[in-house]
Amino acid sequence: MDCLFCSIAAGEIPAKTVYEDDLVMAFHDIAPAAPVHILLIPKPHIPSAAALTERDGDLVGHIFAVIARLAKEYELEEGFRVVSNVGALAGQSVPHLHFHLLSGRALAWPPG
Ligand code: AMP
Repeated sequence: MDCLFCSIAAGEIPAKTVYEDDLVMAFHDIAPAAPVHILLIPKPHIPSAAALTERDGDLVGHIFAVIARLAKEYELEEGFRVVSNVGALAGQSVPHLHFHLLSGRALAWPPG
C-alpha cells in the first residue's frame, strides 16, 4: 500500500525520529505548527482513530505512555496538547493514524 507514514515506519522515507520501538514511532513534523511538534504513529497501518476498536486498546495505551515519556524528556510540564485529526472536515491529510504532540507556545482553544 502506498502510505507515507507506512514508508516512514519502514525506514524507506527519512524522518527526524525521536522514539521508536516495535509498535510505535515518533518523529518531528516536517511543517511544525509549534516549537514542539512531534507526530506519533503506530507501525501497523490504521487509517485513523475512526478505525480503532477495543482490540487496539493496548496499542493506543502504549502510544499515550510514549507521549507522557516524551513530555518529560522535552520538559513540557507547562502544558502540551495531543490531537488526532480524523477525516477531511478535521483536516486529516495523511490517512494513517497519528497523534500530534504540540507544545512550546500558548495553544488557543477552541482550535480553528
Ligand atoms: P494531519 O494533517 O493531521 O493528517 O497531519 C499530518 C501531518 O504530517 C502534518 O502536520 C504534516 O506537516 C506532516 N507531515 C507530512 N509529511 C511529513 C513527513 N514526510 N515527515 C514528517 N511529517 C510530515
